[in-house]
Amino acid sequence: MTANEYMQVTDSNLVHTYNRFPVTLDRGEGVYLYDTDGKKYLDFAAGIAVSGLGYGNEELNNALKGQIDKLMHSSNLYYNTTCGKAAGALKRISGMDRVFFTNSGTEAIEGALKAARKYAWKKKTGRYEYIAMKDSFHGRSMGALSVTEHEAYRTPFEPLIPGVSFAEFNNLDSVKRLVTDKTCAIILEPIQGEGGINMASREFMRGIQEICDKEGILLICDEIQCGMVRTGEMFACQAYGVRPDILVMAKAIGSGVPAGAFAMTKAVAEYSLEPGDHGTTYGGNPLVCAAVEKTIEIFEREDMKAHVREVGAYLSEQLNELVKTYDVVVERRGTGLIQGIRLSHPAGKVIQRALEEGLLIISARSDVIRLVPPLVIEKEHVDEMIDVMRRVLAYQSF
Ligand SMILES: *Cc1c(COP(=O)(O)O)cnc(C)c1O
Repeated sequence: MTANEYMQVTDSNLVHTYNRFPVTLDRGEGVYLYDTDGKKYLDFAAGIAVSGLGYGNEELNNALKGQIDKLMHSSNLYYNTTCGKAAGALKRISGMDRVFFTNSGTEAIEGALKAARKYAWKKKTGRYEYIAMKDSFHGRSMGALSVTEHEAYRTPFEPLIPGVSFAEFNNLDSVKRLVTDKTCAIILEPIQGEGGINMASREFMRGIQEICDKEGILLICDEIQCGMVRTGEMFACQAYGVRPDILVMAKAIGSGVPAGAFAMTKAVAEYSLEPGDHGTTYGGNPLVCAAVEKTIEIFEREDMKAHVREVGAYLSEQLNELVKTYDVVVERRGTGLIQGIRLSHPAGKVIQRALEEGLLIISARSDVIRLVPPLVIEKEHVDEMIDVMRRVLAYQSF
């Protein structure tokens, strides 16, 4: 089949929920992707911050193939050989105490919201409200959407769940004003991904932790995008010296195998979800957990944190140069390998031109170019990306 035929068969058979780029990807190798015509693309999107190990990692692939041959699925009615070990690895890197596996980030958010409600219910506090942040993104199911502040995503689906209010990100006073004796949890992304790569300040994260501790409110950190070493720490909250009550993960934890999880402290687990409260047929299945376990093993052995810090610092320098050189590049945002540059106009044309030049980049909101490459990129790949960006930005005819 030709690329056009693949596009046609997709568009005519799927619900039209995506405006896709006109590219049909066929295979990946290292940090490069290839389309059906054999054209090569440098990948600075990683399938939206998922493919941390890039493509064709032999060790990961062999672990997956081995598990496929042994057992792919068994349900949560039985024990299996990978689930407990993967959960143990997540505990080790997150500092949390108990893990629940899901199939996606959105589902992990749903579970985290339920866990917080159950905690309040069991403690008989009468609390049920959530405080979320403006410009947040937590997913598109009814619960996750209820804590997502984005009008276009929300409006057609209202009424959403009641009891959610939105504070200004990085404004502690605005959070304090929304706290009531009914607040059960505060949910936030330490670095907002979809919202434009907005980093929480240290004072804000610390301040939120203080409010939560003082008022008996649970802190839920959504690290679906910014977690798993993107910041140079395993999880961004660790860089802030903050320990959430519930930590939500997905995207890079399974290296492309659909995996999500929420993890909680012992103190929460003791008063939260019990048998019958929550469940999933696939979540934590042998194949998915083999991927999670192997991903973490490789990250730790290869000291991915040090690697991301080094390449991330280099990326920052190079992006700062773009800010200095081009008027259209207003500022650099983020840290490590979750960075962005804000443009003075919508980013669509730049992204389209980059695609034509063989570079995959994505936007966050309309005017930020988001850079969330595979974590295994090297400085030479940063140089290659910057070369393309310079060519594209030099057109000036947006
Ligand atoms: C991607 C994302 C989600 C949703 O995860 P899915 O796996 O797409 O369901 C939630 N929160 C954040 C911060 C995300 O980046």
